Amino acid sequence: MSVPPAGDVLPCASYPQPVGNLLKEAFEQVWQSAQATFFRHKRHAPSECAGCEDFGACAGACPLYWSAMGTSELAGDGRIAHAPA
Ligand code: SF4
Repeated sequence: MSVPPAGDVLPCASYPQPVGNLLKEAFEQVWQSAQATFFRHKRHAPSECAGCEDFGACAGACPLYWSAMGTSELAGDGRIAHAPA
């Protein structure tokens, strides 16, 4: 979470879409908003991540990365596809 001086609450410093604004709303209102809940519950994770044994550590990685690069590198079983040895 990142909060620049204008009060926007960003999921991270690089994410352009705020989930609320602390100069206009109470923290609890921002924290419980649908937008903040979406990120807190890791709903941004690609569907390929469902069932991944590393989800607890990775949490679906970076939504900005997936939106820029797509998810084709994820194998059908929800794990990162590796090049053959
Ligand atoms: S390791 Fe890969 S498949 Fe597993 S949660 Fe992270 S991005 Fe998703």
